Amino acid sequence: MKASNYFSNLLKVAALSFFSLLTFSVLGQHKTWEVSDGVYAFQSDHNLHSMFVITDSGAIVVDPINNKHAKSMLRVIRSMTDQPVKYVLYSHNHREHISGGKVFRDLGARTLAHVSTHEWLKMYGDKSVAPVDAYWTGTLKTLHLGQHTIELHYMGPSHGVGMTTVLLPKERVAYIADLVTPNQLYPGTMVDYSIRGLENALKKLEALDFEKAIYSRTANANPIGDPVDVAFARQYLEALQQAIDREYEMGTPTMKIPYSINLPQFANWSFYEAWLPLNISKIMAERSAEVESTDLKVKDPLGR
Ligand SMILES: [Zn+2]
Repeated sequence: MKASNYFSNLLKVAALSFFSLLTFSVLGQHKTWEVSDGVYAFQSDHNLHSMFVITDSGAIVVDPINNKHAKSMLRVIRSMTDQPVKYVLYSHNHREHISGGKVFRDLGARTLAHVSTHEWLKMYGDKSVAPVDAYWTGTLKTLHLGQHTIELHYMGPSHGVGMTTVLLPKERVAYIADLVTPNQLYPGTMVDYSIRGLENALKKLEALDFEKAIYSRTANANPIGDPVDVAFARQYLEALQQAIDREYEMGTPTMKIPYSINLPQFANWSFYEAWLPLNISKIMAERSAEVESTDLKVKDPLGR
């Protein structure tokens, strides 16, 4: 091979590696990945992940998790830029995702959330969660910060309240909280999930144009995945529904159905053994609630 070819190949390999390799740094228990230019995923000793975006007009944090996590993330952001953190976005109302907001708010950041999250926190939030300074309504809000465009997509009633997915359309990076947990079943009896709502949210995610996603929870070694993880989550729910239908058709007693189903294609996902019967029970419970409410409508003498 000619030297010039060798070096041009070397450069190509280096360029490809640079594109695919995530900048990875470890400070104590903290890990930061550069997902795209100025876009980072952050993990502390907590198992939830945040995203932050640094621009030349300030930074934005998505899901500050808790105080300890937020303070660690703040130190990392301070080591990268002198720009202030202008916004802290709450992806939904769950405290374990957002109680670190106060760390940034005390330094002048404004907390942002969908109006549903804001209303819920006003009624039920505890004082560990900083209130929402600015809320948005509808299904899409677009922010412009420095060179970055940041879209907030409301996912509808699906998990928690006010569930929002963040999309950076130019970088084609998404931040997805709790709607998808790559290589892992949904947690236990899927408390605070609506199956129908989740199915709708997954369709909305599949319609978004992104290449990489930062997942708030994952069974993988790092939080960066891609749209295939969303497709797998949808396929998992579809496979469960079909398996439940088959058991009903075969006349399997209702109580036995959660323990009669195997989905070998998902057997390597985390918590498969422990959570599969619980996920099935959740789907069956939601279906039976729908049947009961339909019956009530039919039987209601006033036709309500
Ligand atoms: Zn949640």
